Amino acid sequence: MPLKGKAPALEHREQRALMAWAGWHEYGRPELRLLFAIPNGGHRHPAVAGKLKAEGVKAGVPDLCLPVPKNGYHGLFIEMKAPDGRATPSQKAWQRLLTAYGYRAEVCHGFEAARKVIEDYLGYHPVSG
Ligand SMILES: [Mg+2]
Repeated sequence: MPLKGKAPALEHREQRALMAWAGWHEYGRPELRLLFAIPNGGHRHPAVAGKLKAEGVKAGVPDLCLPVPKNGYHGLFIEMKAPDGRATPSQKAWQRLLTAYGYRAEVCHGFEAARKVIEDYLGYHPVSG
């Protein structure tokens, strides 16, 4: 999906930081190994975009999935945003649908927000931070 300005670069930076954090902690928190990205955004050659669409890539699907059931949820989906980014209508629709079907779905503005959502979801309660 097209994003304007520096938002894609900022979002990329924040998501990369989140995945690095998950990598550092997955030894002690093995559930974090299941955190994965769904690369459905960004600019692509039209032929590639068409091929991916035919294979099932859809606009608005969240950026990250943590397929770990917790506290009555089937799993966690995160839409990453730059600190000042906003969810698109298709992203909001996916958030609503996933919530309706029993998933926790959050829009996170930056690495720290996403980290806190994941820690809350998994029941981690760090002493500080
Ligand atoms: Mg995003």
